[in-house]
Amino acid sequence: MTTSIVAGIAVLTAGGSISSRIAAQSRLRSQALTSELRRASADRQTLVDELVVANRILANESVLDGYGHVSLRNPGNADHYFLSRSRAPALITSADILEYDLDSAPVEKEAAAGYIERFIHGEIYRSRPDVKAIVHCHCPDVIPFSTTPVPMRPLYHMAFFVGAGVPVFEIRDAASSSDMLIRTPALGRALARTLADKTAVLMRGHGAVVAAPSLHLAVGEAYYLNLNARLQLQAMQLAGDKVKYLDASESAKATQDYERSWDAWRARLPR
Ligand SMILES: [Zn+2]
Repeated sequence: MTTSIVAGIAVLTAGGSISSRIAAQSRLRSQALTSELRRASADRQTLVDELVVANRILANESVLDGYGHVSLRNPGNADHYFLSRSRAPALITSADILEYDLDSAPVEKEAAAGYIERFIHGEIYRSRPDVKAIVHCHCPDVIPFSTTPVPMRPLYHMAFFVGAGVPVFEIRDAASSSDMLIRTPALGRALARTLADKTAVLMRGHGAVVAAPSLHLAVGEAYYLNLNARLQLQAMQLAGDKVKYLDASESAKATQDYERSWDAWRARLPR
C-alpha cells in the first residue's frame, strides 16, 4: 500500500470534517483506479510481448513463413483477442498487435489492416470457450493429409493429441466457390464446426489450425502437428500399412506442456 493511500485511510478512520473525509475518499478511489489501470496496462504489455515471442518462434522454427498467424484470447475480456496486423510473423513487434472482438472487428477505430483470415480466430473463440490461443499455418507437411483419404495418425509421442483425430475442412462444403481463404465469418463458423472439440483441423489444400488452452500449448502443438505429418509420410513410404502408431491408450495417457520446447525455441531466436 502506498504512503498516500495509508494517509487517506488514516484520515477516514481518524474522523475529521465531512469535506476532508469526502476528499480523502475521492483521492483513494482515484488512486485505486490509477493503480488498476497501470496494472491492466502492464498485464496487457506482458501478454502482447508473449504473443510477439510466439510469432517469432513459429517463424524461426518454420511453422509459419510469410503467411499464417497466431492469436491469444484476452484473459481480461473473453470476448476479445490479440492478433497482429497483417505482417510476416518474423517481423512482428509489440506495436503491431491489435485487439479484436469476436466479430473480428478491431477494437481501435483507426487500426491498421488486419489479416484477411482473422475470422478463423474470432469464430473459434466464439464456439470454444476452452480455447485461449490459436495458430493458423500454411505448413506444407500436413498438405498431403488434407488432399488424400489418408488420415493423420499419432506416430510420435510429442504429437499425442493427433490420437484424438484430426478432421479435414473441405471449403467446397461451405461455399460453392472460393479462393481457398477464410474470408468471412460464415466460413470461420464452418471451419469451427469441423474442428468441433478437437485440437487440430486440416484445411484441404491450404494448411491447418491448432486451438489450445494456452499460447505455449498452441505453439508446441502446431510445431509437433507438422513434425508428425512429416514423420508419418516418411514411415508410410518405408512400411506402408505396417507402420506402428500410438494406440488409443498410449495417446490418451501421453501428455506434454511443451514448456522446455518453448524455452529452447525462445533461446535460439535471433537477437
Ligand atoms: Zn490461410
